[in-house]
Amino acid sequence: MTDSTLVESLKQLIQTSNRIVIVPHLNPDGDAMGASLGWWHVLKKMGKEPTVLNPTAYPMFLGWMKGADDTINFEKDSGLAIALLKKADLLMYVDFNCLKRTGKLEKELEKLKSKKVMIDHHPYPDSIADVMISVPSSSSTCELSYHLINKMGWNEQVGVDAAECFYTGIMTDTGSLSYNSSRPETYRMIAGLLEKSIDKDKIHQLVFHSNSFSRMKLLGHVLANKLFLMPDQEAAFIYLDKNELAQHHFQPGDTEGFVNYPLSIEGINISGFFLEQDDKIKCSFRSRGEVPVNKFSELHFSGGGHRNAAGGESASSLKECVDRFKNELPNFYNKFKNNEI
Ligand code: 5GP
Ligand code: MN
Repeated sequence: MTDSTLVESLKQLIQTSNRIVIVPHLNPDGDAMGASLGWWHVLKKMGKEPTVLNPTAYPMFLGWMKGADDTINFEKDSGLAIALLKKADLLMYVDFNCLKRTGKLEKELEKLKSKKVMIDHHPYPDSIADVMISVPSSSSTCELSYHLINKMGWNEQVGVDAAECFYTGIMTDTGSLSYNSSRPETYRMIAGLLEKSIDKDKIHQLVFHSNSFSRMKLLGHVLANKLFLMPDQEAAFIYLDKNELAQHHFQPGDTEGFVNYPLSIEGINISGFFLEQDDKIKCSFRSRGEVPVNKFSELHFSGGGHRNAAGGESASSLKECVDRFKNELPNFYNKFKNNEI
């Protein structure tokens, strides 16, 4: 799965570094947090001085992960973050493929002369690191990370805490092994993680069954009042404005997974979700089968991602984003049907 020379370069860089700053993408999800904290545990066990630097806060439903409390939030502690970055021997970029995905942290990262590695599974990466390990066929950055650790001969450095983190990312990036998880290698990695005595069922419980009351009410609200169909395009979309979020005591991560609900309607193969934030509209797209929503997001919402799971953002208003989706999707869908995309 991975080129041996690249793995050797990664090994060399880690072996010769002490202060290692691990950076996931903004609004880190289960895979980004899992991979960051998984590596953090492993590097600590090896006697290094790692730090996880999140560009923005992590969602509540990942707060149980061991080490989550020790992560630094750039938005909250930028002074400390910048000091750490300046002293870093090595930067590890995990679960993103272009610096824009680190939000406001991008400006700081661009200045740094220290060595950098990227470990990621998103297609078409920008050249953002000295060692670029990009494996789009991997289910998750967590699967890829555990694979790399094994390949470097460091399996014994993976304890139960790291294994729990890596399992979380595989689970969340595959919808609990319901998509993007048909390669036997994924299950070999899971088997290895189970051998570390992780409690898989507990992780499922912690991630998916720890909803707040207000999150459930928000989900009920969006499905009852803000779900719309575009049957001719086999599409459906939802959206939420800032008032609705405030009324439901919105916390980061509360809308995680909402975009999947429209996709569960029979005959719907494309889903869109538009979320109004303070400074932008966050857009999420999902599809089933061959429909490349990453292309759609790239074309109309300055985004990208995987074929079946993509995202983007816009400085336009929420209404303009929804209108753009409604106006542009028919054309995109027709092109897709005519094999022009
Ligand atoms: P989500 O909808 O969960 O935020 O994102 C799904 C996937 O889309 C992510 O794993 C990431 O690959 C991609 N993605 C999300 N937001 C952006 C964005 O603003 N820019 C790009 N290039 N990709 C994004
Ligand atoms: Mn991922």
